[in-house]
Amino acid sequence: MRHFSCDLCGKTLTPHCDNHYSVRIEGFAVTEAAGFDDTADTDAVEEMDELLSELERNESQSEFETVEMPPAFAKKEYDLCGHCYAKFLSDPLGLDSRRKLPFSRN
Ligand SMILES: [Zn+2]
Repeated sequence: MRHFSCDLCGKTLTPHCDNHYSVRIEGFAVTEAAGFDDTADTDAVEEMDELLSELERNESQSEFETVEMPPAFAKKEYDLCGHCYAKFLSDPLGLDSRRKLPFSRN
């Protein structure tokens, strides 16, 4: 028999005794370019040009940050106990804990 433990608190999840939840997270790159087609008028193209040159400016400003491109598609799966699942649902991105524990510059 396969045994599960909570990926957050490590508690062993006994089948049929504990609440056992599975959380799947999928992420994928959103490509705005898909919205552009032959019907795009000149204004849109000019706006795009402005946007691109703006992006280039921003890139040169942040040249010291080397950000590795994440994969275009990612999928994660976690087993959670009932307690951790409830906590996850109330704050999936951990925003509350980020507010409570501000980044320390020490
Ligand atoms: Zn847990």
